[in-house]
Amino acid sequence: RAKELGRNTYQFYAAEMTARARERLALEGALRRALEREEFTLRYQPIVDLRGGRVVGVEALLRWRHPERGMVMPEQFVSIAEETGLIVPLGEWVLRTACAQCREWEAAGLPPLRLGVNISARQFQRPDLADTVARILEETGMPPKRLELELTETLLMQSLEATIAAMQRLSAMGVQLSIDDFGTGYSSLAYLKRLPIDRLKIDRSFVQDIPGDPDDAAIASAIIAIAHKLDLTVVAEGVESGAQLAFLRSHGCDVMQGYYFSEPIEPAEFAHLLATGLPALRPRPARAGPRK
Ligand code: C2E
Ligand code: MG
Ligand code: MG
Ligand code: MG
Repeated sequence: RAKELGRNTYQFYAAEMTARARERLALEGALRRALEREEFTLRYQPIVDLRGGRVVGVEALLRWRHPERGMVMPEQFVSIAEETGLIVPLGEWVLRTACAQCREWEAAGLPPLRLGVNISARQFQRPDLADTVARILEETGMPPKRLELELTETLLMQSLEATIAAMQRLSAMGVQLSIDDFGTGYSSLAYLKRLPIDRLKIDRSFVQDIPGDPDDAAIASAIIAIAHKLDLTVVAEGVESGAQLAFLRSHGCDVMQGYYFSEPIEPAEFAHLLATGLPALRPRPARAGPRK
């Protein structure tokens, strides 16, 4: 009985594994074709500085417009693109497209913005990354100072010496570097000092439950304090409410990104939003009488 059960369990797992392996293989092929067929697209989310009450930056976020499945989010395919190495040409496409888009917005009269682009470890390990970035900046006419590469802590912990060299090269070119999802990886505070980093992005998971959750409130305010002591700017990710905004502001974090301001949107919508002004940044109309 037990033996039979064991065998059934094994067969179940084996079947499931084969199914999963087959699915992965299919996904890998589909991703490769998607790049050729130009099924990828970018959405753009504004980054706001409350001190000036304006949009100072934008993050490019990848989407896959699948002919049958509809819009596929990065969580569903980025890790496979990383494992297969497809993230290298795909990431290059993202960089070029996002830089070109920013230049297009500028030509249309929008103020110059800092552009954040996510870079995966696989891309960062390539010795030619800095050359690729330099070439794209030149092709698109994007000033290096306005490009910010968003790196993860996990990426930084891999082959630290090579990583430092790559970061120094990019930094010397004038490209800005930030740590994304800060606080979720194996944080060694020592590397914050050693590396040419300009900015920390506080992970959404610490923002979600503030101000109510005392642990998250402590973590968020500690990250802001450390960043400022180290002369880094901080961006809070995933700001969805006025209460989160108020808490972050009172702890000195003025730069934010989140649904409270805008979801990631299409280029035309982004241009329109910037031209008309973000509703969340509009001054509240003065009230004539007392509040009812
Ligand atoms: P990320 O770089 O940390 O990007 C922020 C994510 O939070 C985005 O998810 C964004 O849509 C979402 N977000 C922003 N504000 C809010 C909010 O107020 N509430 C909530 N619930 N979510 C918010 P998205 O677009 O699904 O991207 C997920 C992740 O996929 C990114 O996290 C990044 O790690 C990765 N990714 C996206 N585009 C690229 C890319 O071009 N290359 C690489 N290598 N990775 C990418
Ligand atoms: Mg990011
Ligand atoms: Mg993030
Ligand atoms: Mg994230």
